[in-house]
This record gives sequence, C-alpha cells and structure tokens, in this order.
Amino acid sequence: MTAPDMKLVVVGAAGRMGQTLIRVIQETDGVMLHAAIEREGSAFIGKDAGELAGAGTMGVAVTSDPLEAFLHAEGVLDFTAPAASIGFAGLAAQARIVHVIGTTGCSTEDEAKFEAAARHARIVKSGNMSLGVNLLSVLTQQAAKSLPSKGWDIEIVEMHHKHKVDAPSGTALLLGEAAARGRDVDLASRSVRVRDGHTGARESGTIGFATLRGGSVVGDHSVILAGEGELLTLSHSARDRSIFARGAVAAALWARDQKPGFYSMLDVLGLS
Ligand code: NAP
Repeated sequence: MTAPDMKLVVVGAAGRMGQTLIRVIQETDGVMLHAAIEREGSAFIGKDAGELAGAGTMGVAVTSDPLEAFLHAEGVLDFTAPAASIGFAGLAAQARIVHVIGTTGCSTEDEAKFEAAARHARIVKSGNMSLGVNLLSVLTQQAAKSLPSKGWDIEIVEMHHKHKVDAPSGTALLLGEAAARGRDVDLASRSVRVRDGHTGARESGTIGFATLRGGSVVGDHSVILAGEGELLTLSHSARDRSIFARGAVAAALWARDQKPGFYSMLDVLGLS
C-alpha cells in the first residue's frame, strides 16, 4: 500500500523560492500543499497560493498563522530569512514534524538554535538542495584531499542575481567547507572572504572567496584549484530554481521516515 500524500507547508510562499516550491509540489506525486504562509500584514494573505505561484487555482489560501498550519502538517519547506527560519524551527519542533531549511546567511548562533530544535523536529538543512552541487561538494573534497595544499591554491567564485542579500552564498560556503574537510583544516581560520587594496602575496593553504552579483543569474559556482602551470576548475551552473525545490521536496519525503535529528542533503542523497 502506498503512503498517503505528505502534507507540506510552504513558508515565505510569495518569495522567488516559495512560488517555485508551490509549482513543484503541484507537479510531484506523493506530496500535497497543506498551507502557504506569509508574514502578518503581507498583501498576499487570503490569495490562492496556486494562483500566486502561476500554477492555477489550488484551493489553499495564504495565511499568516504558521503554528495552526504546522499542527496538522507533516513537513515545512522554508526558504525565507535566518530570523524567520529560527522561529519556524521552534514551531516545527513543537509539532514534531519535518523542517527542510534552504535559508542561507545563518550565523553560528543560528545553527546552534536549529540543532536544538532538531531534538524534536527532523531538520534537513543545506545551503544548496540540488543534486549537482552536492555531488560537486564531494568532488571538491576529493580534489582538495588529493592535491597538496603547498602547491595548489583553492579559490571559490560565485555569481548570483542582483537581489541576493548575503555573501558569500550558502553554496560557496558549503563548497569551502568541503575543501576544508578534504584538507583537514578549519574553514573559519583558513578562509579569505574579501580582498581589497595592498593585500600582500597570497598566503599558502588559505581558501579564497570571490562574490559577483548582477542580473538574473540563478547561481553559478566554480571551485578553482590553481597549481604551478595548471588549473583545475570544478563548476556548476543552476539554470532554474526548480532544481532546489525538487531537492527540498525529496528531502521532506526522505526525512518523513527518519528519527528527529539534524541532517544535510548529503544524507538525503546518500553521498555522506
Ligand atoms: P525572496 O524572494 O526574498 O523570498 C523570501 C520570502 O520569505 C519572502 O516572501 C519573504 O517575505 C518571506 N519571509 C521572510 N520572513 C518571513 C516571515 N517571518 N514569515 C513569513 N515569510 C517570511 O528570497 P529567495 O530568493 O526565495 O531566497 C530565500 C532564501 O533561500 C535565501 O536565504 C536564499 O539564499 C535561499 N536559497 C537557498 C537555496 C538552497 O538550495 N538552499 C536555493 C535558493 C535560495 P517579505 O518579502 O515580506 O520579507
């Protein structure tokens, strides 16, 4: 017997990712849109979520009451903002449901709060929910491990659309963590997040980041391993936000059968 459709709540329903999630839920077997949430006072409250997302009428009106929605749902898909995601994690823990968090720009203190909520909620959190980027992180770790840090410099370059508010991107940091794991070093103490002015020569063993912003770019990332006389580049280009939304729905379905805990997309994809 197949399980009934998993009841999912989309928070930040009117956002770029929120609308994409609603469209992907509608076209995916095994899941259904239970509720769509926007913040109190939003102009979208009361509107049909499907119409908002350009997916036709779905009969689910946008509301501003997450607790009521979570109590009768099985999972929450959350691509909002750090402070909002912390609040939603607390509510998901109360309701003991799945919370898939794609929100980026979270601090170390924020991460500790998510881990505390994961004592009761099943949390899957990743700076990038796509299969391609998660495989890229595995390849990055392997390359960083294989090439000696003395002769090989690692630089991570990313470009996103002009509306993005955090930098470097969650994906760039995820790739930086993978490179640091490969070299068995701590990213926080080895990363160079910006360069400006007379910086002096590059310090061996550091992991550099460069951020570009403009236009409508969904997300481009390259990990450059630069050696003497040769350059190895591993890269990924996101052409459509639906890759993140499909990953988030897959994460929710996977987490449905897990114990409360804090998981990553590598766990979901069997790449950990
Ligand atoms: P966006 O278009 O600005 O959407 C964010 C939405 O969340 C907005 O509708 C916003 O409403 C809403 N929101 C914020 N606080 C809220 C609250 N307290 N209650 C309810 N709704 C709230 O941004 P986006 O491009 O979709 O990206 C959202 C996040 O996902 C960013 O952190 C981005 O970096 C991340 N992201 C992650 C992945 C991944 O794979 N992990 C992929 C793409 C994007 P207002 O407009 O009223 O503030």
